[in-house]
Amino acid sequence: MKWLIMLTSLASWLQDGHSVRFSANFDSGSLGDVVLIDSVWVRPSRTDSVLHLSYEIVSRSDPGNPANPELQPSGRWFYFLMEKVKGKHIYLNFTNTDPRRAVYSYDGVHFQRFEHYQASMRKVSAFFTADSVYVAYFVPYGWDMLQERLAQWSAPSYVQMDTLGTSMMGLPIQMLTITDPAVPEDFKHRIWIHARVHPGESPASWQLDGLLDGLTEDSPEGREYRRRSVFYVVPFANPDGVYGGYSRSNARGINQEINWDHPDSVTSVEVAALRNRIASLTAERPFDLLLNMHAQSSDKASYYIHTAESTNAEYFEKAMRLAYLTTDDNPYFFPEDMFYSSPAPRYVEGWIWDRTKGETLALTIEMPYSYFNENPEGEWVTVSSLKENGEFMLRAVSDYFLWDVPGRHLLEGKARGNRTIYSHPLLPAGELSVYIWDDAWIPYDTFSRKRPGPFRYVIRSGDTPYRGLLRVSVQPILQN
Ligand SMILES: [Zn+2]
Repeated sequence: MKWLIMLTSLASWLQDGHSVRFSANFDSGSLGDVVLIDSVWVRPSRTDSVLHLSYEIVSRSDPGNPANPELQPSGRWFYFLMEKVKGKHIYLNFTNTDPRRAVYSYDGVHFQRFEHYQASMRKVSAFFTADSVYVAYFVPYGWDMLQERLAQWSAPSYVQMDTLGTSMMGLPIQMLTITDPAVPEDFKHRIWIHARVHPGESPASWQLDGLLDGLTEDSPEGREYRRRSVFYVVPFANPDGVYGGYSRSNARGINQEINWDHPDSVTSVEVAALRNRIASLTAERPFDLLLNMHAQSSDKASYYIHTAESTNAEYFEKAMRLAYLTTDDNPYFFPEDMFYSSPAPRYVEGWIWDRTKGETLALTIEMPYSYFNENPEGEWVTVSSLKENGEFMLRAVSDYFLWDVPGRHLLEGKARGNRTIYSHPLLPAGELSVYIWDDAWIPYDTFSRKRPGPFRYVIRSGDTPYRGLLRVSVQPILQN
């Protein structure tokens, strides 16, 4: 009898005072079912005891998809708070999702991955030193975070903020227009970017964040980018999905990514808003480039390149050039990481292809959640490596369009027999590095110039002369 009372009180004590409280009722939060598998007191020494609690975490599936009922709703994304964990050893077993190594945070702001010894595929085993801990599939980038960043990016007069319409749940679908208003539109390249069609893919937002920092900064490079271009950027194409913590759908279960070929009457309101704005912006002139930013469970960054057979040789060449420019001198992303496919009208690339027949280069780019280049021994994905990838992408876009950015000059050659002559009206003094292009920038020559002025360079070669681009990078000599 005495033992039974003790056991009963121990059981209720475990449930009330010692069990962990789970919640996900916040921006981007998501959690399905939590099942306590086991609870055991372990005595590492005579004077010490630690409660070990083991849970099954069933991630929450998106709502059933009314537009594509044949598709299984995804439940990849999770992001929840555990309270009363201090001093306890917690085991988490994830089902319905596939985290390689989940992330955690004690303050909900600074996230880090569980260490290798604490986490593996679908498992976490960790001792916690604070009472509250957030756990997520990857570092979240939620609605509140975006609002803070939008306020910073849109402070200068060369960034305008606008709303394309409202989501099904009434959130604004926000867009930034970034350009130097003093330069006439006719001289500019026009670039559309949208991200987070799939709301669980927060790495895409971290990459875009890095790109937007570079594009909006008050620097010689930033000023030149804005003179040369108009960027239309929709950071959250699916704001309900991000706010609601969905994986791949909007609040109605629709996967917006494959909804572009549906007529206005039955498409999601978010896709209709994007399509309408793209149509009105391109009524006179198509975009030069459209980028659709995602994240993937494959352990590498990728562009989805549309094959020459499914498009044409020129379009394929343009796509590969942008891809190679992105992988050039990039420690995270390599030429062999690409995927190849055909444009289908249900995707934005196919929709654009049907409208412009290749005038607009449209590509989906994917960032991994785990590590790069399928190499688990290499660097695991962090917020800072994703932001760097955003900077690399902006640099690739700049090279792709031959923008003449301070410190980085791309020259087209003129053929004269077996010579190719390159010239620039004005380069500064400094240390010059000359590169030729062979699906990457290949170092070719270095020298220094004492005075600024016109620049001329000749490449002489044998039977097959080099006719490609020349890149001249200038490291200015600091005067004292
Ligand atoms: Zn995606």
